Amino acid sequence: MFGATEIDDDTWEDIEALLVQADVGVPTTMSLLDRMRSRVRSEGITRQEQLIEALKEELRGLLIEPTPLNLSGRELSVVLVAGVNGSGKTTSIGKMAYRMRLNNRKVILAAGDTFRAAAIDQLKLWGERAGVPVIAGQPNSDPAAVVYDAVNAAHARHAEVLIVDTAGRLHSNFNLMAELVKVRDVLRKVVPDAPHETLLVLDGTTGQNALSQAKKFQEAIDITGVVVTKLDSTAKGGMLFAIQRELGLPVHYIGIGETMYDLVFFNPTAFVDSLFENGNGESA
Ligand code: GDP
Ligand code: MG
Repeated sequence: MFGATEIDDDTWEDIEALLVQADVGVPTTMSLLDRMRSRVRSEGITRQEQLIEALKEELRGLLIEPTPLNLSGRELSVVLVAGVNGSGKTTSIGKMAYRMRLNNRKVILAAGDTFRAAAIDQLKLWGERAGVPVIAGQPNSDPAAVVYDAVNAAHARHAEVLIVDTAGRLHSNFNLMAELVKVRDVLRKVVPDAPHETLLVLDGTTGQNALSQAKKFQEAIDITGVVVTKLDSTAKGGMLFAIQRELGLPVHYIGIGETMYDLVFFNPTAFVDSLFENGNGESA
């Protein structure tokens, strides 16, 4: 029969479930489904395969093409790294430092999370693994002072990139944001246009909650880009669509494991394809 279509109510339900389970979020999912319904009508789409291809196109259209980090063309570039506790800041800093060192960049790390001794030791360990120096103070010392020392050390050693780790507990707490602002302001006193990148690290398994976190950090310290971690888990990281749409922030890297090698550039096409794959990398 002419006009026969593979696309029925079940198809739409399956797509809706897939998007919601991938943490794309209900508002984005609903607007995508509306858009797809009208495309199915106007373009005469009848095959599920065509529908998925068109949907992938729409999803890619929602993502910002990543640009390289703004870390060259000056004596010292500074990266401030923020995010809630456990999101993967310290680990991602270690991985980034390793990548930069492989690219022959002279990197130095600042242990701005002085809240716990273990946090300082953890960054030092990553510094050893990545082969880059770490400037640290005593536990519970003022992070702004550590950062100040780190900038001076960076200048003295002719480092090209300084990456600043920060504490992440109590993200809803006024004190944490105030501390981040203070660290940023100290950076600016010594390097007037710093930080050149302010990266927010988001745990890919936290779903839509990541959006409200991102908004709070954005308000306090003007985030310039995002790193999403733990996408080696079953989490799909679909909250990125809402974050990109509402905050206009590019995603630079994704974390895909706990070792030094497990950080890759964000690739919108691969990311969208991964939403449609099951855990074995096969198409759903
Ligand atoms: P921080 O509190 O934001 O500094 O977070 P950490 O860097 O200490 O990371 C918290 C936990 O998440 C650690 O156990 C890390 O090994 C783990 N982690 C960080 N990134 C990834 C990732 O991409 N994949 C996986 N599986 N684990 C990660
Ligand atoms: Mg940490």
